[in-house]
Amino acid sequence: MPHYADLIIDTIKQLCVIPAHAGGPQRGRALGDLGLVEGAAVAIQGGSIVAAGPRESVLDSFRADDILDAEGRIVTPGIVDPHTHLIWAGDRADEFERRLGGATYQEIMAEGGGINRTVRQTRAARLQDLIDQARARLDRMLRHGTTTIECKTGYGLNLETELNMLNAIALLDAEHPVDLVPTFLAAHAIPPEYTSDPDAYVQLVAEKMIPAAATWQSEHWPGVLYCDVFCDEGAFTLEQTRCILEAARLAGLHLRVHADEFVPLGATALAVEMGAASVDHLLATRPEDVALLGQSQTMAVLLPATPFGLGVPNTAPARALIEANAALALATDCNPGTAWCENMQLVLALATRSLHLTVAQALAASTINAAFAVERGDRIGSVEVGKQADLVVWDVPDYRHLGYRFGTNMVHTVIKKGVRVFEQ
Ligand SMILES: [Zn+2]
Repeated sequence: MPHYADLIIDTIKQLCVIPAHAGGPQRGRALGDLGLVEGAAVAIQGGSIVAAGPRESVLDSFRADDILDAEGRIVTPGIVDPHTHLIWAGDRADEFERRLGGATYQEIMAEGGGINRTVRQTRAARLQDLIDQARARLDRMLRHGTTTIECKTGYGLNLETELNMLNAIALLDAEHPVDLVPTFLAAHAIPPEYTSDPDAYVQLVAEKMIPAAATWQSEHWPGVLYCDVFCDEGAFTLEQTRCILEAARLAGLHLRVHADEFVPLGATALAVEMGAASVDHLLATRPEDVALLGQSQTMAVLLPATPFGLGVPNTAPARALIEANAALALATDCNPGTAWCENMQLVLALATRSLHLTVAQALAASTINAAFAVERGDRIGSVEVGKQADLVVWDVPDYRHLGYRFGTNMVHTVIKKGVRVFEQ
């Protein structure tokens, strides 16, 4: 007797299962295991996947009144974007034009532009304005196949606005189909009022802001709250980063670090030592730190839209990370300064060219490994029985079109927790 499902996706030409490996991410040379099934179906019940595989076996076991005929298209897990700065006010299009004309970021900063301008605009915005601007971005991410994102604070740089940004994340998570994973990034930059005494700001973050974020979590957020630090020249030193991460760990927050974007200060080794969930950017990572990542549980998150956005070469050692047996994931880094990118399809296309990943590797790095980068690999990131039914039907005849083509949206249907939330 077949069971009844809420929804069956039938006539899938290629199903990319993209399985977890031994309950963890796909590491090293094992990256790119799509678990490809030709001629597949997926059954969904109560928001979860109850069967996935060859269509005869799925249809033998399950019936449904609601059938989504994929008509020979392909299906993957919903895309996970594990590094975004989704919440901000305003834009910096005029600065982009000036940089194209030869102005340097330092010149623009000296005139009050750059991140400080976004901080001023974000501090001045009402909570509802922050939510409205971020929701429009989130809608576009969903339409391009992204079903879970990590989302950082970091344009407040004072307690009031940083907490306001956490509130915006929690409210958007509650109202929007896309799931948000919150990260407290008060250590994104030294705020203008502390440029003459950065250590005083570090002390404020460690002693006041992080405990306040932990209190916010206990009142408003049942899941994991991350703390992140931008460790680099012109941002936070290694010692300052350690001080903030230790305070965060003590407060029960999980850790992630912006590491080695411009100068390798030792942030990757520190993150590994402290058991951070991820280190992100890694454009200037030293070989010894690549080797450390290969022996750690810390995910290497690469952001190819950022060097593209800056118009500089991508120097992240993706192939070396794979050879070292590290686990790597991909993300947009969506932000108003260097990479206003809401589309992980572009990140896939960039990762194949600028990081020399295969399409299968880039897909696994954007699904199962990205899910483990936000410590949700047990719930999302693959099309396996028991997982949340977050799926994308792509309007392409072969999965390799996802890295091969770029510039147009290839999504046909997005399914979140078993519900069609976008149809092209
Ligand atoms: Zn970032």
